[in-house]
Amino acid sequence: MRQRALSFLGTGHFVPQLLAVLILIGGSLKPDSPAAAFQAPRPPPTTARAKSGPSKVVFSELDIEASKNPLSELSATEIQSLLAKDLGGLGPISIGRPNRGSLYNPIALTATDGIEVMNEERNFGTRVTVDSLLAAVAEVRARFPDAPKLRVGDISRERGGYIRPHRSHQTGLDIDLGYYYATDARWYTKANAENLDREKTWALVKALIAQGTVEYMFMDRSVQALLREHALSRGESPEWVLGLFQKAPRTEAMIRHTWGHLTHFHVRFSDPAAESAGRRLAPYATRLAVQSVKARVAKAPAPKRRVQAKAKRR
Ligand SMILES: [Zn+2]
Repeated sequence: MRQRALSFLGTGHFVPQLLAVLILIGGSLKPDSPAAAFQAPRPPPTTARAKSGPSKVVFSELDIEASKNPLSELSATEIQSLLAKDLGGLGPISIGRPNRGSLYNPIALTATDGIEVMNEERNFGTRVTVDSLLAAVAEVRARFPDAPKLRVGDISRERGGYIRPHRSHQTGLDIDLGYYYATDARWYTKANAENLDREKTWALVKALIAQGTVEYMFMDRSVQALLREHALSRGESPEWVLGLFQKAPRTEAMIRHTWGHLTHFHVRFSDPAAESAGRRLAPYATRLAVQSVKARVAKAPAPKRRVQAKAKRR
């Protein structure tokens, strides 16, 4: 059960499954409780599709409490033991805040047909960060098989923490992405009306948002204007599109202006599993750091013969 819950929380499909669990919880409400007014139709007790129609989705045999982090049920002793014996089994852990934090057990983003990793050693994120990006890029490439590789800048270092020149990027939840260009532009080229491939960049932004895991994005307001105009011209819902982009300074829109984002845009993800694990394990941060170093040393290849190396230096 604990294992199932961990693997469930670790997937990139948290939102639909959370919905499924909420519907289940709704299904068990007493008829006279206030929340019963919002009760979803009770699913039939079998795993088969409902007879009333083939499109009806039935959730059954899902007995996981999504609202609880599995680590919250463990005692201090159990946590200490897990840290010592199975650090990797805890899955990605974001401790602290993206502008002052650390990262354990991250997932490394590696190059794919659609992705070019620009900065090795800064390509570590949480499961949601990496999976959401891969899924969004796959959607773009399904629609535009000729799309060039998306250039991916900094995410986080393997252990998180400060990296120049960023304020955030410390807990595996931030990622810098290049724009798609209509011309042969290099990495970090300033996007403008002449070179921005609006269609592919908008497809990427839309696919990212559709993952349901993006908290917000930073993008220069001039690029925002180009994408907003493009989205509206393609018949996207004006209400939705206008709500996405920042209208004035300090609005809490999904896509916000911040200086420095003409050459790339920044996406902040939310990863409930990694973040709640980080809150639970924050009191053990020192122990976590020690165990993580030990695990890394154990994995490292044996040192080469030092005697010979010394002899050469003389
Ligand atoms: Zn950034």
